[in-house]
Amino acid sequence: MTRRGGGAGHVHVVGAGLAGLAAAAALAEAGHDVALYESADHAGGRCRSYFDSELGIRLDNGNHLLLSGNRSALAYLRLIGAMDTFEPAGEAAIPFVDLASGARWSVRPNRGWLPWWVLVRSRRVPGSGAREYLAALRLRDSGPDDTIAARLDRASSLYRRLWGPLAVAALNTAVEAGSARLMWRILAETLGRGAAACRPLAPRQGLSESFVEPALAMLRGRGATIRFGARLREMLFDGPRVAALRFDREAIAVAAADPVVLAVPAPVAARLVPGLVVPDDHAPIVNAHYRLAPPPQMPLLAGLVGGTAEWVFGKPDAVSVTVSAADAVVDRPAGELAATLWQDVARAFDLPAAPVPPYRIVKERRATFRATPAQLRRRPPTGTQWNNLLLAGDYVDTGLPATIEGAIRSGLAAAGAIVRLPGARAAGGRDHRDSIERSDATRFGADASGRDRADRARQHGGAGDALVAVAAA
Ligand SMILES: Cc1cc2nc3c(=O)[nH]c(=O)nc-3n(C[C@H](O)[C@H](O)[C@H](O)COP(=O)(O)OP(=O)(O)OC[C@H]3O[C@@H](n4cnc5c(N)ncnc54)[C@H](O)[C@@H]3O)c2cc1C
Repeated sequence: MTRRGGGAGHVHVVGAGLAGLAAAAALAEAGHDVALYESADHAGGRCRSYFDSELGIRLDNGNHLLLSGNRSALAYLRLIGAMDTFEPAGEAAIPFVDLASGARWSVRPNRGWLPWWVLVRSRRVPGSGAREYLAALRLRDSGPDDTIAARLDRASSLYRRLWGPLAVAALNTAVEAGSARLMWRILAETLGRGAAACRPLAPRQGLSESFVEPALAMLRGRGATIRFGARLREMLFDGPRVAALRFDREAIAVAAADPVVLAVPAPVAARLVPGLVVPDDHAPIVNAHYRLAPPPQMPLLAGLVGGTAEWVFGKPDAVSVTVSAADAVVDRPAGELAATLWQDVARAFDLPAAPVPPYRIVKERRATFRATPAQLRRRPPTGTQWNNLLLAGDYVDTGLPATIEGAIRSGLAAAGAIVRLPGARAAGGRDHRDSIERSDATRFGADASGRDRADRARQHGGAGDALVAVAAA
């Protein structure tokens, strides 16, 4: 059966991970009539919570670090009304423990744009000098093929104690292989902007309660259609546009004026969109969740250096450990991993090494694409050669690695490309000018890169131009 998709201002969003949710929420806010399709029976994709029946507690699929500098994520959280689901942002301080030497320190950027904190011994990494921080400026002038290791002094303690841990966590890629340019972008949006951008933000309950459920509630409140168990199998093209979406049980006709935002993971997008080139090398992340109340001496999060565990998070009912770019450990048996990682946690926070608390090991073998220079070249822009098809997802070229911030920014960029259409008319009679104001970059946090993507797509005959044609049709 082929059903008609909807009227003017109708938008189809496929995939209800953060990219799809962000696109859907921004479009619904702009007055569009949104239909959201998700293959699973829940939303959130790689960023969600679930009840673990063995441990008897709710867990996040993986520990996710959000900083106050993640402006697209914050804009999204404001849009869906979820800011109050977070713990009040604490001090801009990232605590570390060196498991080899026992040294403890906190990196504490100062307020304001001038980074005088690097001059203050107590605010920086022990054993590092101010000049070593300035040397990180070399990342800014990196070429597209430069790796982080090639641009920084690998022998410095700062490399081992700060740049390395930050890079592996943000890029999910070994420092030796990670893109220097991408690392610069991360630093420029966080540490480089001082304390205001470096406050860790933790959901009071879980990822779903903060990032997913409020979005679904907001969408339902705006009259959006949300379908779970709807796996897109094929897109049918008619000349320059997507004409129908074929799911398992039905095909939905896409009206001439209706855009489609495809917000599925990179490998799925590559199967659905002919000729689409996407990153194809993925790196694993291992999380260990231990059921115990975090001891008082444990901060919200802490970086561990010199062990196997990399980051430790104190959650409401659990202590959770993350190992990113976890190629070296992902194949180890769960029991062995749980014991090894717990030894690191116990040593860092003076806890009994045995017995190991009840645990759950979660291995995401293809957590994100590897942020190497070669993989970055495979990232597509938001626009496609089809005039009503836009891409969203952490693999899309946002200029950021595959993170919450990158995924949300990609979704907002896709929505921005739609609401900026001259002549596009949202449901409810608002004309496009209203939508344009609502899609203002600062409001939704889609930054210059999002605009550039849309502009580039326009120049290349992609989303912008084509959607103008669609709107005029
Ligand atoms: C273990 C782990 C730890 C992480 N840690 C961090 C962190 O600390 N900080 C951070 O910022 N980021 C982190 N990330 C990355 C972050 O979670 C992702 O970048 C982000 O969630 C990706 O969102 P997305 O919407 O692009 O993709 P996804 O979340 O993959 O969403 C895609 C959605 O599309 C659906 N779908 C797939 N195929 C179809 C189809 N054919 N039809 C319909 N729907 C379909 C999927 O079910 C899914 O819901 C982590 C990721 C993992 C896995």
